[in-house]
Amino acid sequence: MKKTRSEKDPGVRRRGRVLPDDACPVCGTKMVEKRSTLRLPVNGEEIAVPSAAHLSCPKCGEVVLRFQDAKRLGEDAIAIYRRKHGLLSADELRAIRERFGLTQADLARLLRLGANTVSRWESGRNVQTAAMDMLLRLIRDLPGSIDYLRDHHAA
Ligand SMILES: [Zn+2]
Repeated sequence: MKKTRSEKDPGVRRRGRVLPDDACPVCGTKMVEKRSTLRLPVNGEEIAVPSAAHLSCPKCGEVVLRFQDAKRLGEDAIAIYRRKHGLLSADELRAIRERFGLTQADLARLLRLGANTVSRWESGRNVQTAAMDMLLRLIRDLPGSIDYLRDHHAA
């Protein structure tokens, strides 16, 4: 059964365990909707997300996230991480950046981050670390910080 299926569609188990159907990728059993605590790393820290929706195999216990499940899990994990560390919100980040007239790429360069990092923070696809959050608060509250970064950033 499993062999037939994988011959017909070898790509059924794709990266990130996002599946187009509800068959268990391990044993082929029809999976059922479930909610339970799932763990996801955020900035290298394991975050437990309670009552996360997913498909679960009643036979072998395999867990599969559909696209929407994975998206929701990621968003919830980031929200929990942000609350846990008391981080600035995406809107607060944007307000700090805009106050100094910086583009997302400008701020990323000054902080020596990857070019898309600030964009990912502001769109909620990722979240700043607690250490970077502190640096952003310094920029917000300490006059002259941006000038200091401009004087010291790598060329
Ligand atoms: Zn299974």
